[in-house]
Order: sequence, then structure tokens, then C-alpha cells
Amino acid sequence: MAYSYDDQNIFAKILRGDIPNNTVFENDYALAFRDLYPQAPDHVLVIPKGPYVCYDHFANAASDAEIVGFTRAIGEVCKILGVADDAGDGYRTIANSGEHGVQEVEHLHVHILAGRPLGRMLAKA
Ligand code: AMP
Repeated sequence: MAYSYDDQNIFAKILRGDIPNNTVFENDYALAFRDLYPQAPDHVLVIPKGPYVCYDHFANAASDAEIVGFTRAIGEVCKILGVADDAGDGYRTIANSGEHGVQEVEHLHVHILAGRPLGRMLAKA
């Protein structure tokens, strides 16, 4: 079944400028801003500007330009935070999807977490 995108989600409102955000980086295809409830010293969310629910929706439906622009934004944020492996101590990217992924906001977002040791990848359920 096709994904249906609800344009009343909170990140859609951020993209429309209806609610504020703490922007880290922006290009034509993506916006990166600080998570309101950070779970690490650096916790940034990168979202595409297009209406995509989750990563597989984006990967299958977005244009090449959107995919490049979004991916480049992740790279730029890593540079801005100084966390890239050749310059910093590393980071983790997470993209939650659906019920088992415990996705709260149904607009694709990649979390970039950094600034402390982040532990193992998954906690036991
Ligand atoms: P997820 O569980 O992957 O859907 O994560 C949603 C994330 O959005 C959480 O880490 C929230 O803290 C974050 N969040 C929710 N509302 C806002 C907001 N207005 N500005 C920034 N981050 C937010």
C-alpha cells in the first residue's frame, strides 16, 4: 500500500515556518535543526523538504536531486558539528520508521547523535 503523508505533522509545520526551530543547516532539499529533547550533547534532525513519511518512502519516491540534496545535508551537518571520523569522535545516525521503529513524527528524519559515547546500537526490547 502507498504511504499517505499527513501535512499536519510537526515537521511539516516547521517547514512551513508555522513553528520555530533551531536551524543548523539548510539547502534546497533539506533542513537540519536541533532536536527539542536532545538525547546527546549534539542531537540534530535532518529532514527532506518533500512530503515523505519515512526512509523507504523517500528512497523509492524522491527524485535523484532530492536524494543527493538530503544526503549532502547529512554530510554538511557532520562537518558543522565537527564529528566526522577524520576530525571528531564519531556519531550515530538513526532513522526510525513505523510502529516497530517507534517513529513518533511521520515525516522522514535522520537523527544525528554525537558528543558522548553512545553505547551499543540497540537496547533489548
Ligand atoms: P522519532 O521518534 O524518530 O519520530 O523522533 C522524533 C523526534 O522529534 C524526537 O527526538 C523529538 O524529541 C523530536 N521533536 C519533536 N518535536 C520537535 C520540535 N518541535 N523541534 C525539534 N524536535 C522535535
